Amino acid sequence: MTARIIDGRAFAAGILAEVATETAALAAMGIVPGLAVVLVGEDAASQVYVRNKARRTKEAGMASFEYRLPEDTAETALLALVAELNDDPAVHGILVQLPLPGHIDTARVLDAVSPDKDVDGFHVINAGRLAAGLPGLVPCTPLGCLLMLKAELGDLSGARAVVLGRSNIVGKPMAALLLRESCTVTIAHSRTRNFPDECRRADILVAAVGQPELVRGDWIKPGATVLDVGINRVATEGNNTRLVGDVAFAEALTVAGRITPVPGGVGPMTIACLLRNTLTAARRSAR
Ligand code: NAD
Repeated sequence: MTARIIDGRAFAAGILAEVATETAALAAMGIVPGLAVVLVGEDAASQVYVRNKARRTKEAGMASFEYRLPEDTAETALLALVAELNDDPAVHGILVQLPLPGHIDTARVLDAVSPDKDVDGFHVINAGRLAAGLPGLVPCTPLGCLLMLKAELGDLSGARAVVLGRSNIVGKPMAALLLRESCTVTIAHSRTRNFPDECRRADILVAAVGQPELVRGDWIKPGATVLDVGINRVATEGNNTRLVGDVAFAEALTVAGRITPVPGGVGPMTIACLLRNTLTAARRSAR
């Protein structure tokens, strides 16, 4: 068997096109969705992410507000900016780029963002809403995974889903979303016994552990759908590096039914879902 490769770039392009159409419709009613991105410090990877987010935001027809603060910004100053953005009616989504410098309490800053503008879905109120099955804003990466799964498989009800990793930004919300779709859900993590056996039970396997090629081909149930969230940079010959996922892709390809590649799988969905969440927040603000 050779698995069908799920093209995350094409998927994300489809979502971005839908978001742009719906943004234009909302703008025609006088509401231009606005996303504010706050970056503190000089982290090189974060600079790239923030630039890409701003570009995509504008391409979707939304208003983009960028705040670049110096590394030594006081926590009180950052909290004051977040409070200002919470009160600004032109801003429907607020994203504080992580990681923040060490002297700033990340949890305090994330919890200062209004839950209605929390387009990352990291606020404890949104985590609670998701756990309780109530409408809220859902973290972008697991939301992207769910959209891909539903498009690929249709009804997920009754499927045995195994989520690898229990972080607040991927593993836990992913499990909550799959439970909401009536899957039978297992979360496996660094303390799980017989980790490969847990994987082998999965009709749907979502890997988010941050360990290069941890999941081997013979851990995968034949025909399973595998979503690889991991982004790991590994060294190759001649001082070069390349990106690999949490799944040994070449091995998995011969066993799985469907699989996302790294790069070009789950990754592009995250930014598409960020803009989808911004549109959702803008729509709700109009009610
Ligand atoms: P994290 O480090 O917060 O959590 C990793 C989880 O994996 C933990 O719950 C841990 O228990 C589990 N784990 C670690 N090593 C393990 C092992 N050897 N066996 C079993 N379980 C193990 O990571 P995260 O933020 O959830 O991110 C996970 C991966 O997903 C990373 O590679 C990250 O770069 C990637 N990621 C990608 C996107 C995207 O595609 N846009 C977004 C977020 C995260």
